[in-house]
Amino acid sequence: MGVLMDQPRVTILGVSIHAVDFQATLAQIAAWIRPAESPSTICRQICTVNPEFIMDARRDPQFAAVLQRADLRVPDGIGVLWATRLLGRPLQERVTGSDGIYRICERAAREQWRVYLLGAAPGVAEKTASILQKRYPGLQIVGVYSGSPRAEDWPIIHHHLQLTQPEILFVAFGHPRQDFWIDAHRHELPTKVAIGVGGAFDFVAGVTVRAPRWVQRLGLEWLHRLIHEPWRWRRMLKLPQFVALVIVQRFGLT
Ligand code: UDP
Repeated sequence: MGVLMDQPRVTILGVSIHAVDFQATLAQIAAWIRPAESPSTICRQICTVNPEFIMDARRDPQFAAVLQRADLRVPDGIGVLWATRLLGRPLQERVTGSDGIYRICERAAREQWRVYLLGAAPGVAEKTASILQKRYPGLQIVGVYSGSPRAEDWPIIHHHLQLTQPEILFVAFGHPRQDFWIDAHRHELPTKVAIGVGGAFDFVAGVTVRAPRWVQRLGLEWLHRLIHEPWRWRRMLKLPQFVALVIVQRFGLT
């Protein structure tokens, strides 16, 4: 199964999250890709769990089941770190798709893992690929495709992946669709690892501006996003609800 078999977990509102940072996540990905440790052909699924994921899982048992079946649920979002502190199992590092794409590609260039970028608007994955390849010389991005999670796109995506045989598949369809899509197809995906990364290609390509590091360090990336993408306000109402429910979980106020 790999290095995480005994990895502790923290359960937040019914969703169990692996107690990992980037170092442990990369170690696990490497273990899955190494043939000796990964004789199974089933693609491993990584979900970057932020408070929105947790709130969506509460309302949608099918999404909760997808998260539960995933091989690795990493802590994304400052709200998740806060919740782990309140629940007495503090995690220190956000393991986000937007940072993960850089961290994984940096390692992929060194280890010669082949990478495929699926999703985002037409042209964005191409731009993302050229930026990453400039940054990490030797990085093999073996394919990019805008595509969509719709059933009619599956045959062409499957065909591309079979031709290119990537080890790592980044899927940028936005959550929860990307996570449902990986879960539905992973028994047929000819890749070792698939990770849903939401808007990560948009950040790398500069289509969306990510909050500066100091804003991220203050835990205010969500506020930066709300200011730059105000249409998110309705989705973000889940955040205060998440905070209230975690306090209820912590103090057993039901
Ligand atoms: N997207 C896509 N196909 C779709 C719907 C969305 O490729 O059918 C892309 C969209 O272009 C964007 C990403 O999915 O790059 C969604 O980004 P967002 O930041 O909203 O992700 P979330 O926060 O929902 O995970």
